[in-house]
Amino acid sequence: MLEYLPLKKVNAPYEKEILEAMRRVVDSGWYLFGREVDTFESEWAHYCGTASTGGAVACANGLDALRLVLRAWIEMGKLQQGDEVIVPANTYIASILAVSDAGLTPVPVEPCADTYLLNPDNIEAAITPRTRAILPVHLYGQLCDMERIMQIARKHQLLVLEDCAQSHGVATRYLGDAQAWSFYPGKNLGALGDAGAVTSNDGELLQVIRQLAFYGSERKYVHRYKGVNSRMDELQAAVLRVKLKDLDRCNQRRSDIAAHYLSEIKNPDLLLPVARQSHVWHIFPILSPDRDQLQRRLSEQGIQTQIHYPISPHRQRAYREWNTLQFPITERIAAQELSLPCHPAQTDEEVAQVIQALNRGV
Ligand SMILES: *Cc1c(COP(=O)(O)O)cnc(C)c1O
Repeated sequence: MLEYLPLKKVNAPYEKEILEAMRRVVDSGWYLFGREVDTFESEWAHYCGTASTGGAVACANGLDALRLVLRAWIEMGKLQQGDEVIVPANTYIASILAVSDAGLTPVPVEPCADTYLLNPDNIEAAITPRTRAILPVHLYGQLCDMERIMQIARKHQLLVLEDCAQSHGVATRYLGDAQAWSFYPGKNLGALGDAGAVTSNDGELLQVIRQLAFYGSERKYVHRYKGVNSRMDELQAAVLRVKLKDLDRCNQRRSDIAAHYLSEIKNPDLLLPVARQSHVWHIFPILSPDRDQLQRRLSEQGIQTQIHYPISPHRQRAYREWNTLQFPITERIAAQELSLPCHPAQTDEEVAQVIQALNRGV
């Protein structure tokens, strides 16, 4: 079976170093707020280009990273309950849940039909007097059109929170006001459990986030905010530090695989993805009008695929107030998307096997 994402294989090259790093943590007897998290925060800030002006704050997971930024902006008086935040209609639901959780109102808009990314034209059309922020998602690993999104944001004085859960390494300089990261095991930089982070060039924002994530505490037993508990542990930070050193090589391998797929899959029934901007290929999405059958046939030939995502947020019961809205592009992606295996441990033979199966017209 050609597994969609065999995490054991993906992590195998680091096993020895990971075990050594974990041993270091165990021997230290220090499991939270220690050297590993501190060092990872500074390494991650360097990697993301925010080290000199702002930095990075580690937290428990990607959803928390998004929620903490929005909560912090509320505490700083930059957002208020009920403000509108423009979100892509076709994202993983966590992007939208974060907005709702902060007491803000998510406003879904259709993506571009070719890149599946937030469409700047639709942002402009969705702006109302209550709009205060835009939440672009670099979906599948491709950078949104941030130049245009920032132009719109500046014109209308909107905050920009980038959901970077799928796009580790997609840029060396991020244009938004803050970036939320997930290190869920399946992401391009994945921990051995849950972990997340926020990066920003705004040091004040990061300080508020750090306090919010630690019970709203400015110093021990003194609570400035009604905060939460959201932290990365030393073990996960130690693992991430090992894997971060190899992230660029992993992204390069994903890119090589995507290049093979793009040039060698020749099947008129399939729509291949379009890369207009920088792309780290977290997911290689194809569209097929017969998606479910294609997935079954591939599976019969030993090729496992996944769907990102089968039910759009506006069709979920959680957002039943949106159930009657129509987003034809979003719905088409949900009905037709199929994700091909695309990961750094995939061999050339496995890449060829996928291409041959699709070209045979499964
Ligand atoms: C994975 C993901 C998240 C959530 O990250 P967790 O660490 O699982 O909470 C948010 N947004 C997007 C686009 C994701 O892919």
